[in-house]
Amino acid sequence: MPTTSARAAYEALVARGLKLDLTRGKPSPAQLELAAPLLAMDLSHDYRAADGTDVRNYGGDTGLPELRAIFGDLLHIPVEQLLALGNASLAVMHDTIVHALLHGVPGGNVPWRDDDVAFLCPSPGYDRHFSITEAFGIRMIPVPFDEDGRLPLDVIAEHLKDPAVRGMWCVPMFANPGGEVYDEETVRALVSLPAAAPDFRLFWDNAYSVHVLTDEFPPVIDVLGLAADAGNPDRVFVFASTSKITMAGSGVAFFGSSPTNVAWYRKHASVQTIGPDKVNQLRHARHLQDADGVRALMQRHRAIIQPKFAAVERILQERLGTPGSGGVARWTTPAGGYFVALTGPAGTATRAVDLARDAGIAITPAGAAFPYGEDPDDAVIRIAPTFPALDEVEAAVDGLCTCLLLAIEERA
Ligand code: PMP
Repeated sequence: MPTTSARAAYEALVARGLKLDLTRGKPSPAQLELAAPLLAMDLSHDYRAADGTDVRNYGGDTGLPELRAIFGDLLHIPVEQLLALGNASLAVMHDTIVHALLHGVPGGNVPWRDDDVAFLCPSPGYDRHFSITEAFGIRMIPVPFDEDGRLPLDVIAEHLKDPAVRGMWCVPMFANPGGEVYDEETVRALVSLPAAAPDFRLFWDNAYSVHVLTDEFPPVIDVLGLAADAGNPDRVFVFASTSKITMAGSGVAFFGSSPTNVAWYRKHASVQTIGPDKVNQLRHARHLQDADGVRALMQRHRAIIQPKFAAVERILQERLGTPGSGGVARWTTPAGGYFVALTGPAGTATRAVDLARDAGIAITPAGAAFPYGEDPDDAVIRIAPTFPALDEVEAAVDGLCTCLLLAIEERA
């Protein structure tokens, strides 16, 4: 039975009639202002790329070399192996899977659709990754992170003995939603573990490589180089974008891989499009200038969003106690990325999210961060604090804590 105080606190929360939203990891209006020069840039007399290309015309399926150079530097990928493409990396991931399903990938014998195909899914993970694989009937195998945020390499090694396992979703830096960063030992293992399927691929979504919440930029591990050294040069498809660097949905996406895979991607993409939006790419190259320009910009993002993460941490600590010393929940304290993962006792997440909804606080549905929307423990709640204003983040997280505390008491 809930105590009167937990129930009374919840009733007081409902009475406030809040309307708050902590659901999606979107940049805030203040962050989008940092991209204002992109909107103001006048290219009417200056529409040529560094090599003289007129960006107003067709052509150049690889994307603008100067923009590829900036992101090649940041992502540790040789320019020739990095393509600058359309507006969304998720679309590139989707299309990569479609090409694999219809045509197969280098090193494979058959199109994936002719086979039983499974993907390893580190969990909790990014719901939209799981939506792609689910939509195409690809079997998803959850691989839980351990409590220290590390991938269980022994479990992964075991799964790779199954020839059905053709892919693995990876967000190697500041993962969504747990903030995990793969260390070098993990990356080395992932690129070198024996795999029964000759066409096994890591879908390496480096969406948050420079999205730091401190003044340090951790090194971006040279995953393509390590894969080549390990004798598996074609194992990795790298994806990235400027969605949370410039404008979400109006930025530039990237695909990086081995020369063989890049040629494979270009061949299939050439059926789909004559080329990417080079006008937007030129704006981006001029706005960002170089890798240091990107890092400087990301520090300005950090100045806007870090106080929101600090507020989340402070309120969770005040309301839910210190994890490990009598607290009722644990949560991540990410050094980058867009999310905090809050883990309550088993069987409380759905109820807490429902209570929050009824109190006017929208939270990502419980389970969304797991394949098929199924959190086996019903424990993880994703908090996305970047978009709302600071006072709204504070009110929403405080309200969420009230909901979780009631859910915990109801269960007891
Ligand atoms: N990957 C991850 C891990 C993300 O969290 C997001 C955005 N929430 C994306 C990709 C989407 O990127 P894009 O806008 O380039 O499609």
